Amino acid sequence: MNKGLRIPLIAGNWKMNKTPSEAVALVEELKKTIGRQTEVAVVVAPPFTALDRLGKTLDGSTIQLAAQNMHDQMSGAFTGEVSASMLRELFARFVILGHSERRTLFGETNAFINKKVLAALGLLIKPILCVGETLQEREAGLTLTVVGTQLSEGLTGVTPEQAETLVVAYEPVWAIGTGKVATSAQAQEVHAFIRSEMEKLFGKQISQKIRILYGGSMKPNNAAELLAQVDIDGGLIGGASLAAASFVALVEAARKG
Ligand code: PEP
Repeated sequence: MNKGLRIPLIAGNWKMNKTPSEAVALVEELKKTIGRQTEVAVVVAPPFTALDRLGKTLDGSTIQLAAQNMHDQMSGAFTGEVSASMLRELFARFVILGHSERRTLFGETNAFINKKVLAALGLLIKPILCVGETLQEREAGLTLTVVGTQLSEGLTGVTPEQAETLVVAYEPVWAIGTGKVATSAQAQEVHAFIRSEMEKLFGKQISQKIRILYGGSMKPNNAAELLAQVDIDGGLIGGASLAAASFVALVEAARKG
């Protein structure tokens, strides 16, 4: 099986940006150019507050919705949290889990992220599991150890059937929002490692189906080389997903990639 059988995926992580009406305006722009194509899977992850309106705005479009986080429990006394069942009803098909901002700013551990991964899969919401090393860890030669642990602990208990729908995003922490992008060789090395870990956990056939995205200052001017790498199946995009022109350019780069 070659890369050609994995449909590339470009996902926009809007973080804490865009009010619901701003979110609708951006998605209306996206719909005009990339709202019907199927060569690249396109996903947008707005704040929770915009999911409801975007679900309606995207009705009939090929652009899919993701949430940026969720809790592992389905309901209960968890002030400020949102559950997988709530997201499902709002047509969120994906959920970003373990983003480095959640890990560092909100203290999320691999064990907690694992519970969320299992809860999302249980309701057929596809996790986009983020992994990646800090600059300090890279300089200490620990990149593959850190990423390997994030994968094995984050994916404990996931069955091969469930893993088929999984997306992994390799996001070196030092490249997120910094303008410092990993070289295509640095990224491909870690992506190939992630694919080999997926093979160990879920078998060769499934590992070839799992999409592995690169994230970290991916922009229209650096995307082509990254997306041409054999184990890079798309991008998780922060800053460049906030404007239609740059996001559409990235989708176009993935189509050619
Ligand atoms: C991200 O936060 O997932 C991300 C990749 O951000 P940026 O593209 O802005 O580096």
